[in-house]
Amino acid sequence: MDAPADPRASWSLPALGELPRTAELEPLVTRVLAPNPSGMTLDGTNTYVVGAPGSGQAVLVDPGPDDPAHLAAVEAVLAARDARCVAVLVTHHHGDHAEAALPWGSHFGAPVAAGSAQVAGPGGRVLDHGDRLRQAGTTLDVVATPGHTSDHLAFRLESGAVLVGDHVLGRGTSVVTHPEGDVVAYLESLRRVHDLGPSALYCGHGPELTEDPGAVLGYYLAHRAYREHQLLAALGRGPAGVDDLVAEIYAQVPRAVWPAAAQSTRATLDKLVAEGRVVWWGADESDADRVRLA
Ligand SMILES: [Zn+2]
Repeated sequence: MDAPADPRASWSLPALGELPRTAELEPLVTRVLAPNPSGMTLDGTNTYVVGAPGSGQAVLVDPGPDDPAHLAAVEAVLAARDARCVAVLVTHHHGDHAEAALPWGSHFGAPVAAGSAQVAGPGGRVLDHGDRLRQAGTTLDVVATPGHTSDHLAFRLESGAVLVGDHVLGRGTSVVTHPEGDVVAYLESLRRVHDLGPSALYCGHGPELTEDPGAVLGYYLAHRAYREHQLLAALGRGPAGVDDLVAEIYAQVPRAVWPAAAQSTRATLDKLVAEGRVVWWGADESDADRVRLA
C-alpha cells in the first residue's frame, strides 16, 4: 500500500501564515482568524460569523481564544454586517475553540450551544445530531462528528458548506485524540460528512476547502487506512513499543508533531485491539505500552 496523495497538493491554497485575517467566504459567512498560531493550531483558530445579510443578526461558530484583539476583530465584522450576535456555537471542548464561548456569550447576551454541557454552560443548550437551528435568517443543521473528541459537532449551512471544526483541517490531517477520541467513530464521521456532499469545508484551522471537498474527505479516510497498514506492517516485524512505532511511522514529520501522532497511534491501536488483530503485550498489564500482532 502506497501513501495516499493529498488532493490539496495541486490546489492554490494560501501558505501557512498567509491566511487573510478576515475573509468573506460567501454572503452567509465571514471567517475571522484568531491570533493564536502554533504547531497544533496551524495559522490560528478560525472563528466563523454566520448570518443572512440584512437579518441584523449573526451566529458565531467557535469563538476561539478569549483574546481582546480577536474579540475586537469579530466585533468589527459584526458591525460591518450590521448584525448583533444572537448565539455562540462551539464544535468541541478544546480551549482553542471554546475558551471564549462563555465570556463572549455573556458579553453579547447570547446563549451558548455545544455538544457537551461542560461547554454550553449553565443556561446553554446541548445540541444533538439532527437538530436544526433557525437563527440569523438562516438554518444550521447539527451533524455529530465524534472522533477527534467525543463531543465534536459540525454545522451544515443552507449553502451546502459545512463548518467542520477539527474534524477536517485546511492543511495536513487531524488528530484522533487519546484516550478521548475514537478511530471507528472518526471514520464514520468522515463518511457522514462525505455523504452530505458538502459544497465547501470551513475548517477550524487553515484555509477553507472549496475545490473538491469530497476528495479531501476521501483522502482523510485513505490516510487513516494507510496509518493502520503501517502499524500492522511494523508489528509484522515483531512486537514494539508505542514510541518506537511513532518514531518509525512518523519519521518524515517534525518531532514537534510526535506527541499528537502518538495519540492517533494509540487510538488506532485501540481499534486494532478491539478487532482482535493486535494485543497489548507488556511485562506489566498496567503499563500496556508494547503491542504485538494477535
Ligand atoms: Zn483546534
